[in-house]
Amino acid sequence: APPHVAVVGGGFAGASAARALKRQGADIRVTLVEPKARYTACPFSNAVLAGLRDLDAQYFGYDGMKRDGIDVVAASATAIDAEARRLRLDDGSGLAFDRLILAPGIDLMLDAIPGYGASGAEVMPHAWQAGEQTALLRRQLEAMDDGGLVVIAAPANPFRCPPGPYERASLVAHYLKAHKPRSKLLILDAKDSFSKQRLFEEAWEQLYPGLIEWVSLSFGGRVTEVDAATKTLTTEFGSHQAAVANVIPPQRAGAIAAAAGVADRTGWCPIDSVTFESRLRPGIHVIGDAAIAGAMPKSAFSANAQAKACAAAVATLLAGGQPAAPKLINTCYSLAAPDYGISIAGVYEPREGLLAEVAGAGGVSPLDASADVRASEAAYAEAWFDTITGEVFG
Ligand code: FAD
Repeated sequence: APPHVAVVGGGFAGASAARALKRQGADIRVTLVEPKARYTACPFSNAVLAGLRDLDAQYFGYDGMKRDGIDVVAASATAIDAEARRLRLDDGSGLAFDRLILAPGIDLMLDAIPGYGASGAEVMPHAWQAGEQTALLRRQLEAMDDGGLVVIAAPANPFRCPPGPYERASLVAHYLKAHKPRSKLLILDAKDSFSKQRLFEEAWEQLYPGLIEWVSLSFGGRVTEVDAATKTLTTEFGSHQAAVANVIPPQRAGAIAAAAGVADRTGWCPIDSVTFESRLRPGIHVIGDAAIAGAMPKSAFSANAQAKACAAAVATLLAGGQPAAPKLINTCYSLAAPDYGISIAGVYEPREGLLAEVAGAGGVSPLDASADVRASEAAYAEAWFDTITGEVFG
């Protein structure tokens, strides 16, 4: 019988890997384990918050994968035995595999912020896993009176989508400027710097002067406690009462990673930088947000690039070969307004056991660029989303 690869998690990482394996042409049986009937994409969900896009545009199904001959199993993996090469599903059944690709994304540590927790997230949504939470935060912004204070609490590194909180601040400001111009937006940050910072700050000065205030860690930005009943966020320097609060808690690899023994004490999964095989459990490969991918940011673009490299390595290993060192690319686009895009790009390769950035190969959008340059980057962002979702889910 042909070798069997099980893929756990049908997000950008897992779905890309399943497809890439099937399309290698090698004779491999592929099973994708994913409990949700449809995937809700996070990229462009900040545009949903700003009322620029329908949540429906974020949904993708698995029919394309089935047409490719991938066996899609609608269940959650609850346990993985690396030695026996078996995984257990929440419907009580089991699945044997020759190699496993694990791509469970993130778990939000809701209890890491005192006063937050699962019930706090219903009042002060994180909207860091798109779907119901995105819709909730959108409704709160729509219902807010003009003149209200919107607070975004951003986590320390590492976390999913490093530029995401700042794109979110920009697009929410875009909505406030047009519909609730007396309102203010405060970012409470558990860090002293952030991705594409100078570009975002330039955009905020040009587009939303006086609307957005960013408070860094050193100036009391880290949220130490919240009170959901009054929407109060407490920091080391004092407290802030919000009309709408978006609390993005710290994160770790999806729970199945720890259950399978592939997460370390950081909560993330150490991997071999050529094959993405776990450094803790042989036979299990980890890709996407759950993995410790060195200098690569936790993005859908990275997840997709890692998936293709990992699929090639798994196919080679199953054929008894020696996988070659990959080169991986990431580009993260952000919108500061619907017609104002900025980006950061990088190329990565294995170096001393980690994925390291290739010097001089990447870069960020220029400062002081013309409106035309910003508008074309916004168009590239949209084209990127259509291309990647078409490739992965189409
Ligand atoms: P996920 O997409 O979270 O997929 C994980 C999947 O695994 C889920 O479908 C889940 O149901 C499944 N799963 C979990 N546990 C189990 C289990 N036990 N058994 C079976 N299945 C399981 N990235 C970009 O590149 N560009 C952007 O512009 C961008 N914008 C973003 C904006 C926001 C607001 C946010 C929050 C993120 C953004 N990202 C962006 C980041 C991107 O969404 C993530 O990096 C990407 O989704 C990671 O893919 P993944 O497959 O690792 O995880």
